[in-house]
Amino acid sequence: PPPVECPPDSEQLGRSTWTFLHTMAAYYPDQPNSQQQGDMRSLLSNFSKFYPCGYCASHLREEMKTDPPVVDSRQHLSLWMCQTHNKVNELLGKKIFDCTKVDERWRDGPADGSCD
Ligand code: FAD
Repeated sequence: PPPVECPPDSEQLGRSTWTFLHTMAAYYPDQPNSQQQGDMRSLLSNFSKFYPCGYCASHLREEMKTDPPVVDSRQHLSLWMCQTHNKVNELLGKKIFDCTKVDERWRDGPADGSCD
C-alpha cells in the first residue's frame, strides 16, 4: 500500500510556510506601486490572522505591531522577512541566519552554480 501522508505538524508547516514567505519576498517587485504595497500589507496582516498554528500566529501579530512589514521594495521586504524569521529562531534557540544571504538562499542559489 502507498505510504500514509500525515497532516503537517507545526514544524513541517513552519518549514513550508517560511519557504513560501521568503520566496514570495524574493520575487516581490523592486519598485512596487502603491496598490502592490497595500496588497502585500493586507496579505501579511490577513496571513497572521489565519496561520494555522495559534501561538505562532499570535506571536507574529504582536511582532508586526511593533515592527510592521516594510513593503516599499523587494530588498526591504526580504530583509524584514529575514529579521522576523530570526526573531522566531532566537525564541526557539535556533541559529541566526545571515540576512545578507537571503537572495542566495531563496532566489539565486550559490555562485558555484551547484543549485542550477
Ligand atoms: P525553519 O526555521 O523552518 O527554516 C527553514 C529554512 O529557512 C532553514 O533551513 C534556512 O535555510 C532558512 N532560514 C532560517 N532562518 C532564516 C531567516 N532568518 N531568513 C531567511 N531564511 C532563513 N514555531 C514555534 O515553535 N513557535 C513559534 O512561535 C513559531 N512561530 C512561527 C511563525 C511563523 C510566521 C512561521 C512561518 C513559523 C513559526 N514557527 C514557530 C515554526 C518555526 O519557525 C520553524 O519553521 C520550525 O521549527 C521548523 O524549523 P527548521 O529548523 O526546520 O527551519
